[in-house]
Amino acid sequence: MNMNFNFFGKPNDGNPIALACPFFENNGLVRHGFSTRLGGVSDDAYFSLNLGLNTKDSRENVVENYRRFCEQIGTDYEKLVLTRQVHGTNIKTVTKEDAGKGLVRVSDLGEFDGLITDEPGLPIGVFYADCTPILMLDPKHKVIAAVHSGWKGTLGRIGRKAVQEVRRNFGTDPKDILVAFGPSIKACHFEVGEDVFSMFCQNFGTRALYGSLQKGEKFYVNTDKLNRAQLIEEGVREENIFISNSCTYCHNDTFYSHRADGGKTGRMCAVIELVK
Ligand SMILES: [Zn+2]
Repeated sequence: MNMNFNFFGKPNDGNPIALACPFFENNGLVRHGFSTRLGGVSDDAYFSLNLGLNTKDSRENVVENYRRFCEQIGTDYEKLVLTRQVHGTNIKTVTKEDAGKGLVRVSDLGEFDGLITDEPGLPIGVFYADCTPILMLDPKHKVIAAVHSGWKGTLGRIGRKAVQEVRRNFGTDPKDILVAFGPSIKACHFEVGEDVFSMFCQNFGTRALYGSLQKGEKFYVNTDKLNRAQLIEEGVREENIFISNSCTYCHNDTFYSHRADGGKTGRMCAVIELVK
């Protein structure tokens, strides 16, 4: 279901503003948050809570932003695991030994667009700036996943792959999984040419693209629908998929948007950690 996520923090109190999915907050099993661009120390194009390590922003600023954001959502930034994201579909299961890799420690993890863990106290994250950040929780087996699904990841069905991996490795029943899609570029602004549009049609069938608007030679695609459809195909219940209403492009004052900012912009991060 589409919904407004809750805010941590208040505008103007100097703390990072982050979003939380109410259905993840209620069960007490996880700490989590989707960052915005508000409440950090970076300037100019990176104003202000830039969490992109591969941007031209200073590393010092980015690490301080992570410290603030993680503190706001109650996780320890020194344990956060991040990987190099490449718009692929590879997913890695991480353990305590990986704590801090990618941020405060040099990482030997390689390139992955999704992370999974069943270890309490180990926060995992994915970053994004228009692409869809997807967080998952199996409350029965206590397993979490963080997935980065841009248009290529959507086509490659990385969301579905994450469900398959937790099922295979942890015995998860897809019916139990709760899923949150964070802020992303929504159908109002996700413009693609006919080449990409026809790839979506071939991959998902034209019915799944029903409702996409065409203006001249451009198409406007609802990737939330496509990411949701592939999870439902895998057995996730529609009522367990919670989708943030926020469009990163429409609300460019609150979120980084690769498209609205013309490419030079910061990154947001979606983080999740099992409490117990
Ligand atoms: Zn929009």
